Amino acid sequence: FAGARLIRDEAIGLNRADCVLLCDAHPPIRYDVLSIDIGSAPRSDDVPGAAEHAIAVKPIDRFAARWEALLTRTREMPRLRLAVVGGGAGGVELALSAQHRLAGLKGDTVEVTLVTREALLPSHNARVRRLFEQILADHRVTVHAGSAVVRVAPGVLLCADGRRVEFDEALWVTQAGAARWLADTGLPLTPEGFIAVDDRLRSPGDPKIFAAGDVATMLAHPREKAGVYAVRQGPPLAANLRRALAGRRLRRAVPQKRALALIGTGDEQAVASRGAFVAYGPRLWQLKEWIDRRWMRRYTELPEMQPEPGEGPMRCGGCAAKVPAAVLGRVMGRLHPATSGAVMIGLDSPDDAALISFPGAPPLLQTVDFFRAMVDDPYLFGRIAATHALGDIYAMGGTPESALAIATLPPARAPIVEHDLFHMLRGGLDVLEPAGAVLIGGHSAEGAELALGFAVTGRPRPGKLMRKSGLSAGDRLVLTKPLGTGAILAAAARGLISSRLVEAAIATMVQSAGSAAACLLEYRASACTDVTGFGLLGHLLEMLRASEMDAVLDPEAIPALYGALPLLGSGITSSLHADNVAALAALDPVAQLHQIAPLLIDPQTAGGLLAGIPADRAATCLAELRRCGYQAALIGRVARLRRSEPRIRFEAGAAQRVPELIAAK
Ligand SMILES: Cc1cc2nc3c(=O)[nH]c(=O)nc-3n(C[C@H](O)[C@H](O)[C@H](O)COP(=O)(O)OP(=O)(O)OC[C@H]3O[C@@H](n4cnc5c(N)ncnc54)[C@H](O)[C@@H]3O)c2cc1C
Repeated sequence: FAGARLIRDEAIGLNRADCVLLCDAHPPIRYDVLSIDIGSAPRSDDVPGAAEHAIAVKPIDRFAARWEALLTRTREMPRLRLAVVGGGAGGVELALSAQHRLAGLKGDTVEVTLVTREALLPSHNARVRRLFEQILADHRVTVHAGSAVVRVAPGVLLCADGRRVEFDEALWVTQAGAARWLADTGLPLTPEGFIAVDDRLRSPGDPKIFAAGDVATMLAHPREKAGVYAVRQGPPLAANLRRALAGRRLRRAVPQKRALALIGTGDEQAVASRGAFVAYGPRLWQLKEWIDRRWMRRYTELPEMQPEPGEGPMRCGGCAAKVPAAVLGRVMGRLHPATSGAVMIGLDSPDDAALISFPGAPPLLQTVDFFRAMVDDPYLFGRIAATHALGDIYAMGGTPESALAIATLPPARAPIVEHDLFHMLRGGLDVLEPAGAVLIGGHSAEGAELALGFAVTGRPRPGKLMRKSGLSAGDRLVLTKPLGTGAILAAAARGLISSRLVEAAIATMVQSAGSAAACLLEYRASACTDVTGFGLLGHLLEMLRASEMDAVLDPEAIPALYGALPLLGSGITSSLHADNVAALAALDPVAQLHQIAPLLIDPQTAGGLLAGIPADRAATCLAELRRCGYQAALIGRVARLRRSEPRIRFEAGAAQRVPELIAAK
């Protein structure tokens, strides 16, 4: 919608001389103009022990997880003493909300104490302060105002006036502070460490740098740190960033003098405070809810992304952008390429990688992969592309040795092309090098889209080559990663799902198959392949044809990424999905109607390894894979071929049954 590229990482510094932002897990990101909008967090690093023994309310996503953990922890405790440090609007609201929630769980055994350095709600009028003193007392929240916490020891707050407040859990909601790294940027800051900006939201010390929200303080119009001011700065900030890039005059963005604060009291009521005005009641809570939820909906309930006018339906990237299996098969069938004595595994018995052996030299595995980007972040794309390319070598039981890169980038200004190419290749190197592969060359070209691939050379381990063929009846089928990346990425491209689901899918796509392959070799896998564009079914069928076997799958055991099944159920599929449908014909008619069937043909990018493991080793192999961090599962077993073409049927507990060969005896 915004045409913006999302990169998930933490900014940790700034090199203004080179105009680059330094990140925790990415190479530096270059900018023409930069807007720093990283908010604030309660200052806890100047009070010894606070960071270790109290829960900071920001970052809010971490707080939400820690609050849930707190609720679980306290469930078994006979009583709970909760301390809240900070008596501004955030601290008061949190103390009352926490008291309400905990009292609902634990009744009278909850004691909430609020400790604050100054008076309660110092930026609000005296009537608001008195009203909250009464509300806090009515809700049995003990208040120690004028008591500065100077140290936090395990289970106790130590105050400057000698007071000790014992606690089981402590929440830290003190004054907003700015990130420490800002001090090293050389930008003009306020004494509290916030970025000073003019009334155009631009730093007076650097015309390329803007800031808004809690992290910024407008020198001529300082305001308290509150969301009402932050959100209103968004539109003028966006306009001024565009104007700065276009060399146009910037617009002023002077904030309103006062804002209406609606402070919840935990019991579905709220207090309204603005200047000398004060009001209290349930209607104000409803108003607060309405304002907050309406605002959130603008960013969570988005219309579906549509293709650009004149373009066809949206096409997926990654392995979902593969040429369909049937097309590829027909082309290869017509080509009749010549072969040579050096080719040990080639097109006449295709596998995940080719094996060649020249006289007097050790055999080599060779494979190539290439596809267009499926994520915005070029560094992350580089990591996924390299992980995917190495999968073929690992599936053959080999060790990667070297790689050649091939990349296309859309035409753009040289610094932009340079930035994107560097990030893609750096991402690739950060996967190749730990795997033992060196980048030895490559080719780059202008193209319509960002695309990247690697031709990887590896060595087979002597006597340990894993092939698609070799499955025996009774072998257990193990899959090392959950399925569903195709559907998740297709939904993400259309703006249909939350970033959490995408993050979970990406986490599997950057997980190396190296340890999984080592584990499968150790447990004497009879055959192996990696699950990619043709989906689980397409790749399983390749194994079954090469091994002349059938398979029995347990539909309940097949691991799926969270969210993938509902998406597929509602028809959200990747662009290659329709071409993979032909593989469903191998399923028996009942299985074809099962809700999991679409997942079996979902194209995977950097998907898991699929292997046959002798039945007596399958459980320990699975345990070892899981110990290595894979969301692996035993998904079924191999059965004798009943017709000329392999068939696949479903059976509950298919992987658990006694091996058929043994049972037949
Ligand atoms: C308990 C509580 C209740 C509140 N209630 C209200 C209220 O009712 N009304 C109101 O107006 N205000 C309220 N506030 C204040 C309000 O939350 C903030 O003023 C507002 O969120 C500021 O918006 P922002 O965009 O500047 O920063 P934030 O909302 O904090 O967003 C900053 C973003 O930057 C990211 N970030 C931080 N550091 C980095 C980094 N180094 N690299 C990359 N990303 C980074 C963060 O993850 C976050 O996503 C409350 C605050 C608290 C603590």
